[in-house]
Amino acid sequence: MEPSIAVTEAQSADLPAAGAGQRAPAPAVKRATDPLFGAPRNFLDNRFVYAVISQRARGLSIGVNMTPDKFCNFGCLYCEVSRDDAGPDRKVNVRVLSAELQNLLTLAFQGRMRELAPFRNTPRELLELKEVALSGNGEPTLCPNFAEIVHEVVHLRSVGKYPFFKIVLITNASGLDAPEVREGLRAFSAQDEVWAKLDAGTQVYMDLVNRTNVPLKRVLGNILLLARERPVVIQSLFPLLNGEEPPATEIEEYVQRLAELKGAGAQIALVQVYSAHRPPERTTCGHLPLKGLSRIAQRVREVTGLRAEVF
Ligand code: SF4
Repeated sequence: MEPSIAVTEAQSADLPAAGAGQRAPAPAVKRATDPLFGAPRNFLDNRFVYAVISQRARGLSIGVNMTPDKFCNFGCLYCEVSRDDAGPDRKVNVRVLSAELQNLLTLAFQGRMRELAPFRNTPRELLELKEVALSGNGEPTLCPNFAEIVHEVVHLRSVGKYPFFKIVLITNASGLDAPEVREGLRAFSAQDEVWAKLDAGTQVYMDLVNRTNVPLKRVLGNILLLARERPVVIQSLFPLLNGEEPPATEIEEYVQRLAELKGAGAQIALVQVYSAHRPPERTTCGHLPLKGLSRIAQRVREVTGLRAEVF
């Protein structure tokens, strides 16, 4: 089974990039489908919680869709989730989320995930829960009740009904400085993780790939803000654009940004280097072959001394 970037991260290629804090109009129509199984993501009739096999999580990830209205302030070229559909919800209902999450946690910890049709033939070793991901169909740090959701998930973990599970926030880093997000992250334990996107080393390349009004400087500043407080995992997706690999000069700039972060006191636990895994709707955007990804990861290691892995 080929895990996809989209199994843990929302996509929004069909929407024009919106500025930070500017909420895009919520589209309507059909429901998103899970890219891994080709089945609706809400296969349990869930509204906010889904389960996927994630390559980067190395197994089962239960995801909380923090932005059911699919709002994101990036418009990444490699986004694949259709924007011509949206669920009926504009905001997460925490009570409903909690019930859905408890249901899936129960199935996962009781080893009953194979009772769900999409997982019927999934190898058992992949059905061990690796994380609860705060992610979904848009940018989670723009979720208006971010802290409330984090507190609920942390509460479920603390009541002793389930074995410990790790919480992972998957973010484009643009909202890491928001008071609501800062408050929520204070509830994270040392085992929890923040995976922050950094796809570029220059503003020009970021404009090309992430298509956002959020400046690179802000993304770097937010990563530094958090990474001085707790270790952060950097996620860097490099696509093939019109058949071309990212320019070598861009990779050098990107590696320099990582080195600058580290030099400024950022704790970077890991740099995940990967590419778009599924054929994107945008034909200009393709999968960067393993050789190219490995070269990038190697430069990260050589220049920064950081741990870098290719996914
Ligand atoms: S930041 Fe994530 S959700 Fe937003 S456009 Fe990029 S890939 Fe999609």
